Amino acid sequence: METRFTSSFTGSFTQQDPIPEEGIAAAMAVLHHGRLHRYNVADGELGETALLEQEFAQLTGAKYALAVASGGYAMGCAMRAVGVKPGDKVLSNGFTLAPVPGAIASLGAEPVFVEVTDSLTIDLADLKAKIDSTGAKYLLLSHMRGHLVDMHALMAITDAAGVQVIEDCAHTMGASWRGTASGRHGVVGCYSCQTYKHVNSGEGGFLISDDDDVMARAVILSGSYMLYERHAAAPPKEAFERVKYDTPNISGRMDNLRAAILRPQLKALDAQVEKWNARYARVEEGLRNCPGLKVIERAPEGRFVGSSIQFLLPGNTPAQIERFVQGCAARGVELKWFGAAEPKAFTSRYDSWRYAPAQRLPQTDRVLAGLIDMRLPLTFSLDDCATIARIIADEAVSLSGERGAEQG
Ligand SMILES: *Cc1c(COP(=O)(O)O)cnc(C)c1O
Repeated sequence: METRFTSSFTGSFTQQDPIPEEGIAAAMAVLHHGRLHRYNVADGELGETALLEQEFAQLTGAKYALAVASGGYAMGCAMRAVGVKPGDKVLSNGFTLAPVPGAIASLGAEPVFVEVTDSLTIDLADLKAKIDSTGAKYLLLSHMRGHLVDMHALMAITDAAGVQVIEDCAHTMGASWRGTASGRHGVVGCYSCQTYKHVNSGEGGFLISDDDDVMARAVILSGSYMLYERHAAAPPKEAFERVKYDTPNISGRMDNLRAAILRPQLKALDAQVEKWNARYARVEEGLRNCPGLKVIERAPEGRFVGSSIQFLLPGNTPAQIERFVQGCAARGVELKWFGAAEPKAFTSRYDSWRYAPAQRLPQTDRVLAGLIDMRLPLTFSLDDCATIARIIADEAVSLSGERGAEQG
């Protein structure tokens, strides 16, 4: 009897929602008046970028917000603003994406990688051990794929050690820990507005902070010249007076066109998160009891954004996992494997970032060896999600059958 589920999926894993009509109309207005540069404003006008910052500060509950050119730029800017210097050690997750260690390297600082747990969050015991062994005073914490670590436990460790935390919230815009927006626990929270994240302006990013001096430095670093009074979510003038002679201009501004596209998307973010989470739940439900496959449990204290899903296939050889990924791909399901030896497309591993001193993370190696990742664009319907889950489960079952046969 043929029990193998034979259908395949034909949707695109990289097709996002269109820009809302309201955003298109606002962008057209900017194109018509031609004032695209954020500081090019008419008398008394608050440009789209300043308004966007005000709205993002409100959304996250932060005192201050700054819009910039990209998420990677936001992280580099944040580290400069808190005082990271060339040669300083900066702790970060061993499991993240390349722009995170890249931002550290952009300052001439040295990434120190911390182990990941089976929950895909930073390992707090290893964090503590590495703070002690390296004396590092900064942590660039990546909420990779939206898996939130116990933020209270983490902050207790970093506060006790005098370590400043910068949060990489590229995958947690719209998420929170015990009701506090992700990005509000550290000194600075950084976000990305790149097409594959939770709002889409092609490229773009944000920083948020409650710290007057850090934010004044970030604004000047981002390329404000002495026009910082045209911001609406920035610290008082005195903060700028304190730092303006010592802070370089490292241009990386947001422009009014992208801000115009983003403002309606921020308003819709909560509703989008619900849609993502419904899709996530549908895929997870289809995978939960599948033999040989382990779904990643999310901490109940966190509200996450299910814009992607991860699962583990423990106990397989690389060749078996390659066959599983290819089997899914042949049926239209595009998966990423974080255990692959060679970096591929957006996916790479800490041992490929060789500008950083060589490091060994045995626990991370074990987790990544079986870690599969899949995007969940909102263009998928709930039925699409059920189909995708059936295909993955089906391929996982044949993988475990194959493994059984090889072992028996
Ligand atoms: C995308 C991403 C970034 C960087 O954002 P860009 O806007 O592409 O520079 C940083 N961290 C993580 C985890 C990301 O996925």
